[in-house]
Amino acid sequence: MFPGADEYDLPIEVDDAAVERLLDVTPADVDPAPALTFARNVFLPLTTACRYTCTYCSFYDVPGQASLMSPEEIRETLETGADAGCTEALFTFGDKPDARYEAIHAQLAEWGHDSILDYLYEACEIALDVGLLPHSNPGDLVESEFERLREVNASMGTMLETTADVAAHSGGRRKTPGQRLNTVRAAGAVGVPFTTGILVGIGETWRDRAESLLAIRALHERYGHVQEVIVQNVVPNERSDFEQPSVETMRRVVAMARVALPEEVSVQVPPNLSPTSHLLDCGVDDLGGVSPVTDDYINPDYKWPALRELEDLAGEAGVPLRERLPVYERFLAPRNDGQDREWVSDRVRAAIDAEDEAGRRYRACLAGDLPRSA
Ligand code: SF4
Repeated sequence: MFPGADEYDLPIEVDDAAVERLLDVTPADVDPAPALTFARNVFLPLTTACRYTCTYCSFYDVPGQASLMSPEEIRETLETGADAGCTEALFTFGDKPDARYEAIHAQLAEWGHDSILDYLYEACEIALDVGLLPHSNPGDLVESEFERLREVNASMGTMLETTADVAAHSGGRRKTPGQRLNTVRAAGAVGVPFTTGILVGIGETWRDRAESLLAIRALHERYGHVQEVIVQNVVPNERSDFEQPSVETMRRVVAMARVALPEEVSVQVPPNLSPTSHLLDCGVDDLGGVSPVTDDYINPDYKWPALRELEDLAGEAGVPLRERLPVYERFLAPRNDGQDREWVSDRVRAAIDAEDEAGRRYRACLAGDLPRSA
């Protein structure tokens, strides 16, 4: 049982024999993907406040220093992204910050919101209005929170990071593997197309990596909602003592992810953090969201590559590079799994089908007709 998992009813069984098989996987056991995909996004760090203090994280600011984007800043940033041809509004922020950060809570109240999640809903509405599809990473959520936010999100995400109890998550306030797994489960139970992933190099063992990937697989097998799994290496920063994992380590973990996950689930590496060109023959098929207009606020020392660099990576691998929406195309098809509603909400569907400039851009992206320089 994973630490903290006994508090939740998690439909996960990880078989020892499957772990052993995965531990034997090498890059020679996987084939390179036939194409690479990416999404063009604009990145909005709604707030830098977080109730946790993970030791590798340079994103959060302490109370008194944390920022909160205003509705005007949100709209302005989103408009810049839409003008640059983006399709995705990526909202990321720390986990449930408003209880611990009184100033953030007071500011939200002044703007008429009783929580950061309520404010996120408004931010997503602005994104849809501006002509971008929201993809939110708001930390750990329960079903009722996913139910509300799915109305205005094309897809959502939370990194599992690891199923292990690592010192990097220690301290009085800390996230537990059980809580994270329950978030991935709750997204599936509600039917939200979902992104999750593992973080490599935060003190976990090889067995922990294998178990983490198999736990994600088990949740996807139960709900069918995982669209991509990010395999991310930790990177040095001013708060972190962790060393970046070696290229050989990353090659082996990416290959393990490819073998552990069903074919329809993409394996993603972030090209601004990973030794990407050395991983492309290990089963990577997605390069994540890349922003032509905003920084990677989670890892501000590591700039997004230009689209030209992604084309070079694909050229090196000898495969085509395709732009995708934040929601993978298979989640836009009618469901035939017995569920009585579609993966995306009526509101998101209407945005994609709309006869306006944004709707045409989304459909051109789906058809592979977007100009690369837009
Ligand atoms: S990694 Fe996420 S949960 Fe941990 S401190 Fe940073 S923002 Fe908070």
